Amino acid sequence: MKSDENYVKKVDFMKKDLYIDFDSTIVNSDKAICRIYNERYSTYENFVPADWRKHSNWAYKNVCPLIHTHENDPVKVIKDLFGDQDFFDYLEFYDDAKNVIGHLVEKYNVIICTSAFPMNASRKVLWIEKHLPEVDEIIILINKSGNGYGKERVAMMEDDSIFIDDHPKNLKSTNASQKYLFKFKETDYNQDYDGDVVSSWKEVESILL
Ligand SMILES: [Mg+2]
Repeated sequence: MKSDENYVKKVDFMKKDLYIDFDSTIVNSDKAICRIYNERYSTYENFVPADWRKHSNWAYKNVCPLIHTHENDPVKVIKDLFGDQDFFDYLEFYDDAKNVIGHLVEKYNVIICTSAFPMNASRKVLWIEKHLPEVDEIIILINKSGNGYGKERVAMMEDDSIFIDDHPKNLKSTNASQKYLFKFKETDYNQDYDGDVVSSWKEVESILL
């Protein structure tokens, strides 16, 4: 029987599905946002350089306060920054993320599952395609009114799958049997999670590889 070779190669039913979030899990999104803020608000009165290590609020209230005091719609401005070309130009992997994902694809069906806004979805996919071409499947959830955790609707994740995300809400909303909170640093939304926690990609490597 002649099989579809591409399909057989890419979807291996013997492998477990491993869903991985993108922002603040694979890449240091906070660092890129803070860099743009430091470039664009440095001439404003009372400007203090944003330190991404101190980021703890999803709307960047504590590290990028001028957005909240000077913009009419600060949340829209933050969302727009996530779609800005500078954001994708500045985006960096967390240490070891690229290398570990490169090995994970050999053992798992790796699927990047990420929330997006209409204006950043295509740039996000292009970034992933450029920097992680070995990842074959991407689930983009467009949630126009959401604020970055729109994965509640991904209850479709199979029971027998693994899910890594930096937001407890996303983890709790799915059926994945193995879940890990990616907690690179403390934030005001990741402190009360009572499941398994990883804080680096080296740790992911030691658990899953
Ligand atoms: Mg995230």
